[in-house]
Amino acid sequence: MGITNNTKAAPVNTQAAITTADKAPVDSSSGGFTKYRCKNFYTHDCQNWVYVNKAACASCLAAGLT
Ligand SMILES: [Zn+2]
Repeated sequence: MGITNNTKAAPVNTQAAITTADKAPVDSSSGGFTKYRCKNFYTHDCQNWVYVNKAACASCLAAGLT
């Protein structure tokens, strides 16, 4: 239930994250957070970000895409 709501709200933050992280996606010095593309970015075109490299985002975990 809560996961579904977070999933719908995520794209708004993702857009800002892409703009900021586009220059240095793995640079933690810019924003204080190191973000990585969801592991399903290449295989499922997932647009979400994760804090652990090669991890699946909450949306993918909820969908069973681990
Ligand atoms: Zn994902």
